[in-house]
Amino acid sequence: MNKIDKGKMLEPPELGKWGDPLPNMRELTQSEFLQTPFFFHTPSLTGSRQIVENGKLKAAVRWFMNEDGSGLVFARTGETGQELKIYSWAKCIHKFGPPVNVGRCLNQYTCTLCNYVNEVDSSD
Ligand SMILES: [Zn+2]
Repeated sequence: MNKIDKGKMLEPPELGKWGDPLPNMRELTQSEFLQTPFFFHTPSLTGSRQIVENGKLKAAVRWFMNEDGSGLVFARTGETGQELKIYSWAKCIHKFGPPVNVGRCLNQYTCTLCNYVNEVDSSD
């Protein structure tokens, strides 16, 4: 029986292929990382890959994706693989249009680039 690698099966094509960095990767400082929702929200998808540059292994990474297609990357990098770097990444750098009220205190914001819809309940 063949073993199924669920991480590879579920990886959305817009994340690039094995060996590629994730889209819009940007290294975070420790302070920037601590301001992310990582410790409070459960990512919707995770996977791992190696990032290769000019035929040479640059990093082994574990990535996490949130519902909106953005997330974090933990990278084991450096000459001996002993360095940890944390990056943010995103399939889209969202640009939200004006709010559309869809119920009492509930507003929807739609990204003009990818059509991702974010609902905000202002009564919370
Ligand atoms: Zn977007």
